[in-house]
Amino acid sequence: MSKEMIPFIDLKAQRARIAESLNRRMNTVLDSGTFINGPEITELEAVLAQFTGAPHAIACANGTDALQVALMAIDLRPGDEVITPSFTFIATAEAIALLGGKPVFVDVDPRTYNIDPNLIEQKITPRTRAIMPVGLYGQCADMDRVQAIAEKHGLVVIEDAAQSFGAAYKGRRSCNLSKIACTSFFPSKPLGCYGDGGMIFTQDAELAERMRMIRGHGSKKRYYHEVIGVNSRLDTLQAAVLLSKMEIFEDEIALRQQVAARYHELLSPFIETPFIEKHQLSVFAQYTVRIPDGRRERVMKALEAEGVPTTVHYPMALNLQPAMQAYGQGPGSCPISERAGGEVMSLPFHPYLDGETQTRIAKALRRALEG
Ligand SMILES: *Cc1c(COP(=O)(O)O)cnc(C)c1O
Repeated sequence: MSKEMIPFIDLKAQRARIAESLNRRMNTVLDSGTFINGPEITELEAVLAQFTGAPHAIACANGTDALQVALMAIDLRPGDEVITPSFTFIATAEAIALLGGKPVFVDVDPRTYNIDPNLIEQKITPRTRAIMPVGLYGQCADMDRVQAIAEKHGLVVIEDAAQSFGAAYKGRRSCNLSKIACTSFFPSKPLGCYGDGGMIFTQDAELAERMRMIRGHGSKKRYYHEVIGVNSRLDTLQAAVLLSKMEIFEDEIALRQQVAARYHELLSPFIETPFIEKHQLSVFAQYTVRIPDGRRERVMKALEAEGVPTTVHYPMALNLQPAMQAYGQGPGSCPISERAGGEVMSLPFHPYLDGETQTRIAKALRRALEG
């Protein structure tokens, strides 16, 4: 039985919906010829600052750069430690390591997959500078508790909101829950552009100015360089794309809730569905379930044969990654994350996933689990 493959993320429906606005905005950029630092960049920064509530937004080339520029702005020095969850995409820890810092991994809550605040304090040392929580799968970490710990110990909180842009925590938006936040506009993220892109948010005017300078070769005045910086610009065309997508983003967040609710209805009779805390609104960057007992690979194969693609976010906890062995937190140090790496499986998810397709996915999953 060969069936048509369901797309894991379908960007076509969205494209059709914004076509008119998108064509107009992109043509404006093409006609202007201002491909770098066009007015769309400042416009987008203003729109996203307004949307998140964060007073300052600084566009950059991608989410990884956003994290790195943020860490440079707090003057992270070699040997400084940054606390971060052991279950996330590599970029979170990579940015720390690239600056000579030491990523210190803290295990996650088994229900939300976000950093477990109960385990943070025991990892704080005199070298700790910052805590970098991640809003994995689209749900924010327990930011109030993280913030309280940070304040008590004089640490900076940098939210990695690459997956949680648009999410809300106790009625406040992701990217305005800490001094600094970073997001990504990689095409498959909740707010994605048509290439690479990123944004840094801050509540602090001085830091904002510093991050703007670092992003542009450490320069405030052209050809005068105050500090060592990087080249991390967002293309004007990508800003145009994002401005069009922002016109429908609120509605897409609502659609994401509907799709998640339908999955919950279809799947909860036979599998545990994602746990979203009462005070949280997830944007479901991923819709991730658990397939324990070593059955995941078989289930994924069975689903694939039925035209249902799945992905694993992520197969290996960061403390187990070969690239992270220098930091001395090997097997057994983050048991929840290590176990999750062998069990999690993400299903197709996007705002335009229809009920009929979801029913097909649910039936295939049920068969795969029984078979
Ligand atoms: C995608 C992602 C990043 C990196 O974003 P890029 O734009 O791809 O550089 C960082 N952290 C997390 C948690 C991500 O999911």
